[in-house]
Amino acid sequence: MLTVNNVHKSFGKNKILQGVDLTVNQGDVVVILGPSGSGKTTFLRCLNFLEQADVGTATYDNLQIDLAKASKKEIREVRQKTAFVFQNYNLFANKTALENVTEGLIIGRKMAKEEANRKAQAALTKVGLADKMALYPSQLSGGQQQRVGIARAIVLEPSIILFDEPTSALDPELVGEVLDVMKNIAKEGTTMLVVTHEMSFAKEVANHVIFMDGGHIIEEGSADDLFLRPQKERTKQFLRRVL
Ligand code: ATP
Repeated sequence: MLTVNNVHKSFGKNKILQGVDLTVNQGDVVVILGPSGSGKTTFLRCLNFLEQADVGTATYDNLQIDLAKASKKEIREVRQKTAFVFQNYNLFANKTALENVTEGLIIGRKMAKEEANRKAQAALTKVGLADKMALYPSQLSGGQQQRVGIARAIVLEPSIILFDEPTSALDPELVGEVLDVMKNIAKEGTTMLVVTHEMSFAKEVANHVIFMDGGHIIEEGSADDLFLRPQKERTKQFLRRVL
């Protein structure tokens, strides 16, 4: 579904990504772990052109793209196939929950308002917000705002959803409701690539876990491989700190 090869990215003299490869198959939940500053978010952002890679290629379904030199048309095509869930939700403050979810359908997909409303209502119901559709972001808790962010992603029916530390900005008591929604959509077969510090989510839900450090993939495998039988010393050190 998604194959990524040899992604490099520097900010000035800082080499943030140094040849990252990745394969995500349809229905996979792939989790990327790693210490702060290891390049996880930058990698995810390069896949959706929120950052431009210096080097790298990616194939989304059958669409092959040079991540360093994509045209505007190619970027639009990639964004049709991917949806992004942001750490800080990135909702429109002046739009209701429903309008936040219909926006991408009406403006991006040119869908008629009635059909967009129907789909958005279904997506908001799926994330447990059927009774909050008319509220504005400021009237919602962080967990509810992030669930709107997830509804906005799933309503687009993308080939893959990219989650960038979706629970990092939340108070601890609100993390569970967002992870539950993510678990539910994973169970339905949604293909997901998730950068997170939530080890329990990685253990329970991921069928492939990647450990990144210093802009490299250090080790990857099943959750059991990585958590129970880590091979590399850097992985072991990281797990000792976080588990
Ligand atoms: P965390 O878990 O803390 O979010 P991360 O592994 O996701 O960390 P990144 O956010 O990808 O790491 O950042 C990697 C490095 O790149 C950091 O040192 C960060 O300061 C730097 N960086 C990220 N974005 C930019 C930018 N736009 N300009 C300059 N440096 C940046």
